[in-house]
Amino acid sequence: MNLSFSSMNAELKNKNLQKVRVLILGSGPAGWSAALYTARAELNPVVITGTTLGGQAALTYTIENYPGFPEGIGGMHLGELFQNQAEKFGTKTVFGTATSVDLSRRPFIVKTDGGDFEAETLIIATGASPNKLGIPGEELLTGKGVSYCATCDGFFFKDKKVAVIGGGDSALEEALFLTRFASSVTIIHRRDSFRAGAILQNRVQQDPKISLMMDTIPLIIQGKEKVELLKVKNVKSGLESEIPFDGAFIFIGHTPNVQLFEGQLDLDHHGYLKADARMQTSVPGVFAAGEVADPFNRQVVTSAGMGAAAAIQATRFLQDQ
Ligand code: NAP
Repeated sequence: MNLSFSSMNAELKNKNLQKVRVLILGSGPAGWSAALYTARAELNPVVITGTTLGGQAALTYTIENYPGFPEGIGGMHLGELFQNQAEKFGTKTVFGTATSVDLSRRPFIVKTDGGDFEAETLIIATGASPNKLGIPGEELLTGKGVSYCATCDGFFFKDKKVAVIGGGDSALEEALFLTRFASSVTIIHRRDSFRAGAILQNRVQQDPKISLMMDTIPLIIQGKEKVELLKVKNVKSGLESEIPFDGAFIFIGHTPNVQLFEGQLDLDHHGYLKADARMQTSVPGVFAAGEVADPFNRQVVTSAGMGAAAAIQATRFLQDQ
């Protein structure tokens, strides 16, 4: 009796599992590019979008270094073009996030809030998420003046004073973007030189709305209903000061979205998914592409390239089975 119940349950469960040849997690440049290639190989891929359709690239106001767009292109627009092209060849898009994966045997079981899947191959393109400073006030005032996305929130800071924290390409690029709205933008960076590229540094230095606070770290973000001031410290002099700001935009790097795969796939010493030259992870049939497996390049073009490579290898893997 028990046996028949459990086999009935298993059968019922299996009926709810959608069988797919290629399941792709993530809808950034790597995910769509993997979808385009596997769709054109007639593998009918399914893309699980994740929470941010288009990934981090979609949150970028203008992308000036993706080949083929000499005038630049909006990140969201580029994401839409990627999606349209992948869908044109038969990609199915599922709006949702993966909640669990079982990679202990193939086909892999992937549960998502848009349905459950049995996948012959899996391409992980889950990207990375912005790092937090971890200082008092940051979490409390997130959405109330603390932001990790200038494209999303810049508009709310018309004629306001904003701080940008960080010294990489993202911080400088987003600081320049914020000058469209804010009355002043102060870049607060913990060292005396920027990590960002020369072109961005030149633009920042020439912008009359931008001022720099080098060798400085934020200690506290304060405000009752919204951000009112930042307490900062000069790391060389030790001097602490309180500066009024209406907003604090934080761009201090990213952490790969690997939580679902911890204990099932090997990670490298930076905590990113380990993938070989064929984008193959430590489990045969599971491939990784884009920022989740790349701590070094993190460009739209490199992520798209990795997505294509993962798709080509997944196609070959299926052919060899
Ligand atoms: P990033 O290059 O890792 O820079 C992070 C910045 O945040 C660094 O300046 C770092 O300071 C600072 N930082 C880190 N932790 C901090 C902390 N706890 N407190 C204060 N400051 C902290 O990150 P990213 O700017 O997001 O760029 C990521 C990748 O995307 C890079 O490869 C970048 O080239 C690429 N990207 C490219 C473009 C473009 O080409 N247009 C645009 C955006 C991003 P230190 O310098 O002292 O370490």
